Amino acid sequence: MLKDLLTGCITQKDILSYYNANVTYLSLIKGINGFVFNYKNINNIIINKNLSYYKRKKTLLHELAHIELNQLNQFDKDLFAFHIQDYEDEADRYINFLLENIKLN
Ligand SMILES: [Zn+2]
Repeated sequence: MLKDLLTGCITQKDILSYYNANVTYLSLIKGINGFVFNYKNINNIIINKNLSYYKRKKTLLHELAHIELNQLNQFDKDLFAFHIQDYEDEADRYINFLLENIKLN
């Protein structure tokens, strides 16, 4: 799905509804770009609204990667998927992998 978004086959709205996700832009402290948590089967993505347009988009992709990689279900209490470096790295590697594949194809 994320790949389809990156290649322009689907829109941001499509992927959000597919993953039952909401995006909320809030003023977060510096250093936190965003985070995602699942509550009552809704994926809530919170993005720091103080970021630039480009960084907001990048953060949204990163949070969607957490959802797509099913990382939210790997937590005991399906709460915050941030500040856990292994998951952070995996989400970023996944985005980079998709971007590299798109360039090659
Ligand atoms: Zn993350």
